[in-house]
Amino acid sequence: MSRVPPTVVVSRHGTDRVRAGHPWIYRSDVVEAHAEPGDLVRVLADRRRVLGWGFWSSRSQIAVRLLTAGTEPPDERALFATRIRRAAEYRAALGIDATAWRLVHAEADLLPSLVVDRYANDDGTWFVVQTLSQATDRRLSMVTGVLVEQFGPRGVLARNDPRVRALEGLAETVEVAYGDVPDRIAIREGEITLHVAPRSGQKTGLFLDQRENHRAAAEYARGRVLDAFCYQGGFALQMARRAEQVLAIDSSAAAVAATREQARLNGLENVEAREANVFDELRELASSGREFDAIVLDPPAFAKNRASVDRAVAGYKEINLRAMHLLAPGGHLITCSCSYNVDEPLFLGVLQQAAADARRAMTVVEKRMQARDHPVLLTVPETYYLKCIVLRRVE
Ligand code: SAH
Repeated sequence: MSRVPPTVVVSRHGTDRVRAGHPWIYRSDVVEAHAEPGDLVRVLADRRRVLGWGFWSSRSQIAVRLLTAGTEPPDERALFATRIRRAAEYRAALGIDATAWRLVHAEADLLPSLVVDRYANDDGTWFVVQTLSQATDRRLSMVTGVLVEQFGPRGVLARNDPRVRALEGLAETVEVAYGDVPDRIAIREGEITLHVAPRSGQKTGLFLDQRENHRAAAEYARGRVLDAFCYQGGFALQMARRAEQVLAIDSSAAAVAATREQARLNGLENVEAREANVFDELRELASSGREFDAIVLDPPAFAKNRASVDRAVAGYKEINLRAMHLLAPGGHLITCSCSYNVDEPLFLGVLQQAAADARRAMTVVEKRMQARDHPVLLTVPETYYLKCIVLRRVE
């Protein structure tokens, strides 16, 4: 007698969502479940029809993340090996002019709740992994094994301290899963060298999703540049190569110290890094009559959930309005939002209002998004989160 696999039965509503191409099944759409935390489960539309196979979470509102659509259970290791190899081939084909990028972007690489970032230099390659659900967490050693087998890295760090893990009942931990991982890894982004702290830096050490925007922003750099919310100077350093003077601002002392250090190591003497709250600093700069030829705004996600959208919108409007006031005629504003809950139309609406209130005629020069190594899965709107709009003050 064959053993019945862990099984989940999904409501009509949940089935329709799956058919529309979304891999998430919410707990409210689960009719019946026989599974342990992190199990690979057979997903049934009703008692007979198999929708596919997915990962079960006993805690999250996202109860199942679908992996395959077939009726037979996938060989998990083979599936992960294939999808990781495809993800790597895609990045290789992009011809990225850098030695650090996101190798696996979770749902968009059909590996839900798994993130793998790659940092490399002449001394070797390191991976920083995040397993953000019960299922991928249970499979950390399998994922590490696949990475070691395919890429022969010097080390793999499990950087499992994002707060979202709490939704899965998982602890926050940072541990080496394989080999050795140094405290700092020097990587290259275009002509710039950046020193990444994989254990202690924000995210997995860098904002890799902004890499292409850093380079694009450099095209608009001239005269005086302001990089607000600079972190380690991702925008500031690229722009300093073309600008006369760059002022970089962040409220984190560690980030400001890192920006200074990176500027020094790259021989850029025209970068001033200042520890300040951007909201206050924009006001100060205006009252002292300063003007800039290019301004970058790259704040943290102001809207972490739907309930905070109104406040987030007010925050985005305030900084953009103030930045528009500080912009010289013909100057560019490179303005970002990484809040998924503030989507592109809403963000553009905020910018419109800011321009109207600031009494500035602004044109839209470019609509950009997260770098291509952070792909957007068309049927999963949640995978499109980073907007980067380039505006120009006409006169
Ligand atoms: N532009 C960076 C990433 C910025 S992440 C890059 O491309 O690499 C957002 C940054 O904003 C973080 O470094 C955080 O420390 C900083 N921050 C958050 N709130 C702030 C505030 N009110 N004023 C200044 N900096 C702030």
